[in-house]
Amino acid sequence: MWKVGNGEGIHVWRDRWLSNGVPINCNRAVAADFGIEKVSHLISSLIGGWNRTIIEMIFPPTTVAEILAIPLPHQRGPDMLFWPDNQHGNYTTKAGYRFILGVKASSVASSSRAAQFTAGFWKAMWGSDSLPRCKELVWRCCQGAVPIRAELVRRGIAEYPICPLCEETEETIDHAFMSCSLVRRVWFASVLSVRMEENTTGLGTFLQELLVCADMVVAGKVCSLIYDVWEARNRWVFDGDPFDCRRVLQRAVSLSPAPASSSSQGCQQRSFASSWLRPPEGRFKLNFDASVLGDGSAGLGMVVRDVDGMVLAAATESNVCVLSPVQGEALCMRWAIALAIDLGFRHVLLETDCLQLFDMWRSKGRGRSYLATMVQEARTLSCHFDFIDLCFVRRSGNSVADYFARNAVSYGQRVWVEDVPPAVLPLVNGDILSSAPVV
Ligand SMILES: [Zn+2]
Repeated sequence: MWKVGNGEGIHVWRDRWLSNGVPINCNRAVAADFGIEKVSHLISSLIGGWNRTIIEMIFPPTTVAEILAIPLPHQRGPDMLFWPDNQHGNYTTKAGYRFILGVKASSVASSSRAAQFTAGFWKAMWGSDSLPRCKELVWRCCQGAVPIRAELVRRGIAEYPICPLCEETEETIDHAFMSCSLVRRVWFASVLSVRMEENTTGLGTFLQELLVCADMVVAGKVCSLIYDVWEARNRWVFDGDPFDCRRVLQRAVSLSPAPASSSSQGCQQRSFASSWLRPPEGRFKLNFDASVLGDGSAGLGMVVRDVDGMVLAAATESNVCVLSPVQGEALCMRWAIALAIDLGFRHVLLETDCLQLFDMWRSKGRGRSYLATMVQEARTLSCHFDFIDLCFVRRSGNSVADYFARNAVSYGQRVWVEDVPPAVLPLVNGDILSSAPVV
């Protein structure tokens, strides 16, 4: 697939530069009037970004959203081919093999329910770092072939469709694996730190979006977690063993396959802070977070604090288009770093709650994907600092940045210096108290 640089080498109607292949349902007459042939014709030389007006006249809304979410690089280089189905965008024989496996799997699983899943999804799912029984269950979820209560009632096998865990609503696949209040707690407390909203789109959409941009390890964690939730639910239904969030997560660890010995470089055991920690003397901690809404728009938030936990600066940005949550986080990092430069910070410890972004930053790989390019651009900006690094904190330790991200829509584009909105003070004070230096 083509990655847009300056757009001069990509033909809008013939080349594959959008995820679903060449654009369809377009207003070709308008496109012809404007002489649109190359992707560069859709980029405004005046504002240096996408020409939204023209794009909206030509393409259907879903395509518009995808185009606007393509991050144009700060340095407009030539267009480049990348491999779209892995995080780094680099082609390897292994990636090709996994792709073919995915195509095979999807041709087997071609029921109407499974049709929403792309080859990239199946490839990521079957190739994930999890036990076969976990993958098989995820596959059955995608087929709608799990004996969930609502389904048993529909088939006349059972009479009672209510969720056995929360006893609040019908047990559907979406409810049992995502939106049940007890299950939401598991997702959130897991190493993935996924915050399921009550109105989250279905499990299928969620998995599709998450897995196609995840690496094998993250995809494996997702599959294992789904398996563990199902197993714990069954232990409660059939053995009367209460569903306990912590125990589910403890099992999740034991179920993961043992790490391959080739990669045992001592970093397999990862314990991350779950609360905010003060930066070392002389450094500033910059927490950032992106909040992606269902329509593909995102709010960005960042906050800079000193060794005493005092807020020196905070900012929000809204109405940013993104292709995926992790891309939103990468965009947020690039934005936050640029802002830190403008605000004059020179010793900065960045902090994210996005494990994929953290891994990408650590790997220093020169990938070809949009995500990899954004991380590289963020790294390039690092030369403006005397010290800069990125660390990871669990979601619970990133609550102030999360607040700004979630409220970015109402704040709009805004910067606070040595001042914060009153509503965020309890979170700031909470971080100060929980990170108090031990006397
Ligand atoms: Zn429930």
